[in-house]
Amino acid sequence: MRVVVTAGPTREHIDPVRFLSNPSTGKMGFAVAAEAARRGHEVVLVAGPVALKTPRGVKRVDVVSAREMLAAATAAVDSAPRSAPLAFVGVAAVADWRPRRRAAKKLKKREMSGTLELVRNPDVLKSIGARLRRAGRKDAVLVGFAAETGSPIAEAARKCREKRLAFTVANDVAEKGSGFGSDSNRVAFVRADGSSVRLPLMSKQAVARRIVGEIERLLVD
Ligand code: C5P
Repeated sequence: MRVVVTAGPTREHIDPVRFLSNPSTGKMGFAVAAEAARRGHEVVLVAGPVALKTPRGVKRVDVVSAREMLAAATAAVDSAPRSAPLAFVGVAAVADWRPRRRAAKKLKKREMSGTLELVRNPDVLKSIGARLRRAGRKDAVLVGFAAETGSPIAEAARKCREKRLAFTVANDVAEKGSGFGSDSNRVAFVRADGSSVRLPLMSKQAVARRIVGEIERLLVD
């Protein structure tokens, strides 16, 4: 199958030296890409700015902003062969907002007061899902992540319905040893109907094995 994975944060520049972003390191997305390639799938990894090596056998496309991530992800799904199963795993922590204007030159501090106006970014996962449905690829398996600090299961089920996902991987990023930057993760797989399977704290590689295994199972059914 072709597997397209988004990973890492995005950066939304205010000027050449300042941006809005988040603490994502890309470890979870890179682990998913590595695991899918290890199992013989054809993998395109669309990566925001991270300091990680490209996993073996993975085609990597580097991007900076959410809009660039959407363009690269769109190209990756559009070029997917119709004859092969397709999965899209949105692991990236995409910035929800960007500055309305990006200054071409570094702004002076005195120029900045009260000037930061934000506009919404596209939702990469939702846009890709809509595009695939329009193209008649209802067979594609879409998987999302839900990084929450509150009640991840309810939120993740809502996200599944809203973005029409096969399942969402929910994690509580406020928990110790889990979430942004750590090497392990405590997650639950959540479906649209709210049913969920909680996994114990495990390495991101082990979580990636579960995710790719679940996608393979869904595509065989
Ligand atoms: O930000 P949110 O909690 O809605 O993220 C849920 C899922 O949607 C994640 O898989 C994330 O990668 C994806 N997403 C996206 N583009 C956005 C926001 C979220 O692809 N602008």
